Amino acid sequence: APLLSLIDVHTHYRSNTRQVHAVQGVSLSLARGETLGLVGESGCGKSTLSRTIMRLVDTSSGKLVFDGEDITHAGTRQLRPYRRRVQMIFQDPYSSLNPRQTVGQILDNALVIHGVDSRRARMERVTRIIDAVGLPTRSVERHPHAFSGGQRQRIAIARALILQPELVICDEPVSALDVSIQAQILNLLADLKAEFSLSYLFISHDLAVVQYIADRVMVMQAGKIVETGDHTSIWTTP
Ligand code: ADP
Ligand code: ADP
Repeated sequence: APLLSLIDVHTHYRSNTRQVHAVQGVSLSLARGETLGLVGESGCGKSTLSRTIMRLVDTSSGKLVFDGEDITHAGTRQLRPYRRRVQMIFQDPYSSLNPRQTVGQILDNALVIHGVDSRRARMERVTRIIDAVGLPTRSVERHPHAFSGGQRQRIAIARALILQPELVICDEPVSALDVSIQAQILNLLADLKAEFSLSYLFISHDLAVVQYIADRVMVMQAGKIVETGDHTSIWTTP
């Protein structure tokens, strides 16, 4: 069975003045261990799709299934384990990093929120993940702003992976970085995927980036998936 499946999912934004139909009947299935790429130009609905999967916006119709469990209308309690098992990495690392905390506090706090009570177990996991993302151990004492853009993204990756998720939604994770740093972060993500048995939904407006990392690529246009293929067979210019 797939790790994640979406069946004919629709998502709307509603305000007093207008309604936006941002996701228009998307179906997809993501296998365990797969990196599924999602490419499409700005405004086509990629972020809305990731927010829909994270259950940060409500699905108007359709079905969301994770590891065999229908979570389309799951309440806060049912979503709690899901919100550990699925993590996100964003274009702007600050989306998941509190600038007022040190890196150590950020990582430790994530474990506290998710009920890791033993201080010693938390410290071990913080040290291990900092090392896994290629940062020196002393990084834990510093604040995110003391790091370069690429290093800051490594911290955000550590913040996502310290919770030992199964699925990581990478939403434009290298788009704000210099090209040379992009390759480093992509290779790091590929290494971490193997080391921690992860699955990725990898979202980008940049087809070259998606083709580099993904096993399979979906092309999104105006709220719909218009093409799916293996990473070599997609030639659509987004
Ligand atoms: P992408 O991530 O591909 O750039 P988005 O999912 O951000 O696309 O946007 C899809 C559509 O939904 C766009 O038309 C955008 O203007 C609209 N949209 C995004 N967020 C909101 C929101 N909070 N309220 C209303 N419309 C939104
Ligand atoms: P605070 O700013 O209060 O210290 P956080 O910013 O660490 O808290 O987390 C706020 C909420 O966002 C929490 O529910 C946390 O689980 C969630 N969250 C933070 N980072 C991520 C991420 N990378 N992926 C998914 N959820 C996240």
